[in-house]
Amino acid sequence: MNSILALHGGTPVRSRPWPAWPRVTEQTQAMLVDALHSGRWTVSGAYTGREPYERRFAAAYARFHDVPYCVPTCHGSSALVVALEALGVGPGTEVLVPGLTWVACASAVTGVGAVPVLVDIDEETLCMSVEAAEAAITERTAAIMIVHLFGSAADLDGFTALSARRGIPLLEDGSQAHGARWRGRRVGSFGAVGAFSFQQTKLLTSGEGGAAITADPSLFDRMSQLRADGRRFLAQPRIGQLDLEEIGAIQGRNYCLTEFHAALLLDGLSRLDAENDLRRTNVRLLEERLSRSEGVRVQGAPAHLDSRSFYHLCLRIDPPAFGGAGVDDVARAVAAELDLGAVEPVDQPLNGNILYNPLRSPRTPPSQRVSLDPARFELPAAARARRTCFTIPHRALLGDASDMEDIAAALEKVRRHFAAVRSHSRQPGVAQCL
Ligand SMILES: *Cc1c(COP(=O)(O)O)cnc(C)c1O
Repeated sequence: MNSILALHGGTPVRSRPWPAWPRVTEQTQAMLVDALHSGRWTVSGAYTGREPYERRFAAAYARFHDVPYCVPTCHGSSALVVALEALGVGPGTEVLVPGLTWVACASAVTGVGAVPVLVDIDEETLCMSVEAAEAAITERTAAIMIVHLFGSAADLDGFTALSARRGIPLLEDGSQAHGARWRGRRVGSFGAVGAFSFQQTKLLTSGEGGAAITADPSLFDRMSQLRADGRRFLAQPRIGQLDLEEIGAIQGRNYCLTEFHAALLLDGLSRLDAENDLRRTNVRLLEERLSRSEGVRVQGAPAHLDSRSFYHLCLRIDPPAFGGAGVDDVARAVAAELDLGAVEPVDQPLNGNILYNPLRSPRTPPSQRVSLDPARFELPAAARARRTCFTIPHRALLGDASDMEDIAAALEKVRRHFAAVRSHSRQPGVAQCL
């Protein structure tokens, strides 16, 4: 094999194209065009006599999770906001948020006037640690937000028990784990509410979009009104009239999903399980291949996550096996070998993430400047994850075994290179060539 890194002008391991994401089939196009000509582009348009895509998707997504209710929203972030508000989270309360996750988890909490309490992660799964969460609970804790990060899950047995023991509702963010199962049951259906994003990179997508699922009829009713300016669906719609009834019991906002988005989601949902199976099969092949060499392993998952989904493939390097190279350099070199964009280290933990700036918000009252300061939290396990973990986009997992061979070969080539650089640089008179 060519040993010069692609990054340094060598021949890359891979030059064939990777599977595309998002996927577009004949069915995708047919459903989108059907929504276009349906005479109704959103739920706040008049009833046409046929069930809108939004209602069809909500019913299908609830059924998929074996729960009675689903409220679609325009973004995952707005799903978190309506979930938090429905759970009674607001000024004077705190929400436990994992220290390693997308910024929206924390900014949704500050957006409803509450304080995110950043909690460190479990070393193995990279999801919120149950022990650290329990230690962070105060009398103001109004919700525990867990995120099933990348291809893993928070300890749902531990968190459902903690939630019951302390009487604090669990909010599951399933934005990175669509379709995964814990003891046979879909993740997102364990919490009081499960929130999801359908943004373009997610495993189920409409470009932008979100949903909140629940088994609780009163949470469902509140979330329905919160996301539609205080309106909810009529039981008996009439053709030509709005089928959203003005209730006015709470202050809602418009977080509705359009018919086009709902059509795309209904289409994608019909493929989700098969795509998850394919990604899982491929990761199993890759894991088997990686177990024969040193230095890289797949993010761990609890045993009860009996069918994982992979929102990106998160890999952890053992830095000494890479000659002590940093994960940023390793990710850059692997990206070049695979000719694949978005191979990146995991995000910075939220106590040092440039996107999380509650103190810069003009709405932050002086009295909250201490409690909202992200720097007050210590997140050593999240910091270690940032130094050792990187992700490969999930579209690379939609091909076949030969793709997994390429990924393994790229990792091995990069590892050998960095290990050799270190042994050279230890010899006197040989300059480090990086
Ligand atoms: C993507 C994501 C969100 C935000 O969803 P948007 O649809 O972009 O608003 C929230 N939480 C997690 C864990 C995510 O990955």
